[in-house]
Amino acid sequence: MTRQRQIILQELRSVKTHPSADELYEMVRMRLPHISLGTVYRNLEILSELGEIQKIEITGKLKRFDGNIHPHYHLRCLNCNRIDDVPEHIHFDFDLSLNEATGYAITGHRLEFVGLCPECSEHHSHRLSLKLDDLVKKQNQTSYEAVKIS
Ligand SMILES: [Zn+2]
Ligand SMILES: [Zn+2]
Repeated sequence: MTRQRQIILQELRSVKTHPSADELYEMVRMRLPHISLGTVYRNLEILSELGEIQKIEITGKLKRFDGNIHPHYHLRCLNCNRIDDVPEHIHFDFDLSLNEATGYAITGHRLEFVGLCPECSEHHSHRLSLKLDDLVKKQNQTSYEAVKIS
């Protein structure tokens, strides 16, 4: 692993904010002033392929990255786009019941919780850039990935 890639990985693992490539670029530049945004992008893709980091795909939005590769769910604020981890002690066990109900051999699932973060819901009326109705329209659908056994 190159030094650049190592530093990108260290920076990403040091935060829980799930930064975008651009945000990570700003963080990494403190330590590698000559790095380009393209290099950060490329290394993030490689790190994600290597399984060292997680890529969080948000429909129609910037990709965000996560240094925590343990399976976990995310909460996303529809107003400020903050992303937090769902606490580890909260469990969801869909795969088994869905397997029984559909016959699919479920290999995984993607699930994102959306709503308003504590700050945005507290300052609801002042800070919301959109009405709640519009926020609900912005929600992404839950998607499942599954493989059918023949
Ligand atoms: Zn928020
Ligand atoms: Zn996360």
